[in-house]
Amino acid sequence: MNRQAHEGLNRALESLQVWKESFGEWETDSTLSLSDEKVKAVFEELSQRMQGNYPFHHPVYAGQMLKPPHPVAWAAYAMAMTINPNNHALDGGPPSSGMEKEVIAELALFFGYGDSFLGHLTSSGTIANLEALWVARQSNPGKKIAFSQNSHYTHERMCEVLGVEGIKIPVRHSGSFDFDSVNPKEIGTVIVTLGTTGLGEVEPLDQVLTWAKQHGARVHIDAAYGGFFRTLKDSDLIDGTQWRLMQEADSIVVDPHKHGLQPYGCGAVLFKDPSVGKFYKHDSPYTYFTSDDLHLGEISLECSRAGAAAVAFWATLQCFPLQENEGFGPIMAQCTRAAIKAHSLMESSDKLKPYKKPELDILGYFPVSDSIKTTSEVSELSKRVFDTGMKERSFYLSLYRVPASDFIRLHPGYEADSEFVTILRSVFMRPEQLDFVPELIKRMERAF
Ligand SMILES: *Cc1c(COP(=O)(O)O)cnc(C)c1O
Repeated sequence: MNRQAHEGLNRALESLQVWKESFGEWETDSTLSLSDEKVKAVFEELSQRMQGNYPFHHPVYAGQMLKPPHPVAWAAYAMAMTINPNNHALDGGPPSSGMEKEVIAELALFFGYGDSFLGHLTSSGTIANLEALWVARQSNPGKKIAFSQNSHYTHERMCEVLGVEGIKIPVRHSGSFDFDSVNPKEIGTVIVTLGTTGLGEVEPLDQVLTWAKQHGARVHIDAAYGGFFRTLKDSDLIDGTQWRLMQEADSIVVDPHKHGLQPYGCGAVLFKDPSVGKFYKHDSPYTYFTSDDLHLGEISLECSRAGAAAVAFWATLQCFPLQENEGFGPIMAQCTRAAIKAHSLMESSDKLKPYKKPELDILGYFPVSDSIKTTSEVSELSKRVFDTGMKERSFYLSLYRVPASDFIRLHPGYEADSEFVTILRSVFMRPEQLDFVPELIKRMERAF
């Protein structure tokens, strides 16, 4: 895979060089020149320093939402970056702006918006959500934005930035939202997370859509993490109910830099109603206008954006279409199976126990031992297992904090002597982890 990317990149750079030279000869100014030794030394130091990372590329890394992009994505990114187009405006990079429109149209089609929509790439899920909440505020001024306690903390923070009151909706044990505790007249928008950042939970979009219709509220889907799981909506690996309804929401956020095989700097926001573009109107003398076509910069809060991000995602979608049986579907299926396999192996393990059944590819679990009876002891042992893996460089996990009341409800054998319990959490984002899971579990079981 790396070989193919290197070869593709080298060929592309050579042909770009021919294009660059077609404008006539020129020489790089001497102020920009460097000695070979200097460059060599800097890269030697860089490669040493980068080895201070955890092995995000390897199946032993079963911790946070982190993984390197697909080689095709970084090669396309690197190639485009030598030109450094800016997707702020069409003139900043006509080809990469064109590719951005194409990938956004593909995402819109994928999420069921058809061909009437508005959207663009962003530098992150945070900015994409900020835009969606800003449009929500402009659409329903003076009203609150509601989200569950499991949603990403960014929503609370962005409500503050936007000067909108954000309120938390309690979640019932069944997973449904407890709307009884809110005044429907005050709520302008409800956020639903499909694939929570914590444990990959899928919130009840069906219930929220019905409630919102009844009360005239907007619905925003935060699928920053989960979006690509829609490829599995008709498979028997996940419950497709909520995923099949995405097209009914007013806005959707997805992060190609999470499960979309992209380098960081690639989020996306989509709106079902293209007329929300009116909120972005600005009149600036310095945006360049040589074309009457839609400028992505005119419908984005951000100005300069990496054209290379659009190029990389475009190249990736050529290789990995958003389909169930080809491209992204098989990748997402493999990751989901890894979590299901880890869950079932832990159910029969006498040293590890799943916290609950995974809905996607994220599993919460904790170590068990005869001597452990209280929630604070569970926390302590979890941390010990976490530390041991990193110290021995044999596995890498993440820690996750759950309310002790939830923990006791799901695992009644324990005594709650703390407010929260620290458990272990693995995000199985690498399809290679399906085969590695039994070995990973063995290593964890040996760690205490
Ligand atoms: C990661 C994530 C975000 C934030 O996105 P960034 O790209 O990290 O800025 C928001 N919501 C959810 C559900 C996420 O998983």
